Amino acid sequence: MPELDMNSFTGPAESDDFILYLGQLTLLYEKAVESLSEEPEKMKNMRSAVKIVVNELEKRFNCQMCGNCCNQMIGVNVTVTDMMRLGKALKMHTDEFKKRYVTQKEGSYFIGGETWCPMIRNKKCTVYKDRPKICREFPIKTPLMECYLFCCIMRAITGKDILPSPVRCPGFYMMEELIGDYVRRAANQLRK
Ligand code: SF4
Ligand code: SF4
Repeated sequence: MPELDMNSFTGPAESDDFILYLGQLTLLYEKAVESLSEEPEKMKNMRSAVKIVVNELEKRFNCQMCGNCCNQMIGVNVTVTDMMRLGKALKMHTDEFKKRYVTQKEGSYFIGGETWCPMIRNKKCTVYKDRPKICREFPIKTPLMECYLFCCIMRAITGKDILPSPVRCPGFYMMEELIGDYVRRAANQLRK
């Protein structure tokens, strides 16, 4: 089996080297799965592998506008720029938008928060073109995706379900398939 530099791999995600790299990392983790917090150095390597997969997903994912991510109980975090853009889209001054839709918690702004986002009608976003930054980035660029991706690698290797799928978003299913494929290919390469 070829030796890979576990600290400096940068991609590309489709290359056999990455498949091997991911395979070696996951094997390293197979035994450590119960005590990951004790493996800070290896965690660092796993995070850089996760970043490569996230970049690959970013290229492949297109939001289906299904609205499944629009009923988060904690509300949708909005920036000042988001509020200005959303106010303009709804033909109202930013102050009026804030008054009608925004709550402030611990220095951050949120719209919605108890059930569906107030910008949704019939499961479709009414401000999709002007939606908040966080909605544009969901789910690929969120810490949730990295965490879930990591758990999927573990599940593919150990068969243990560590975390249930967080939101019924096609982005998560796509990632599960991609990881399953990587891990199968890694296992085949490592058997050679
Ligand atoms: S702004 Fe649009 S995309 Fe974002 S949560 Fe609300 S309805 Fe969904
Ligand atoms: S759940 Fe995923 S696909 Fe559906 S609207 Fe949200 S980001 Fe887009």
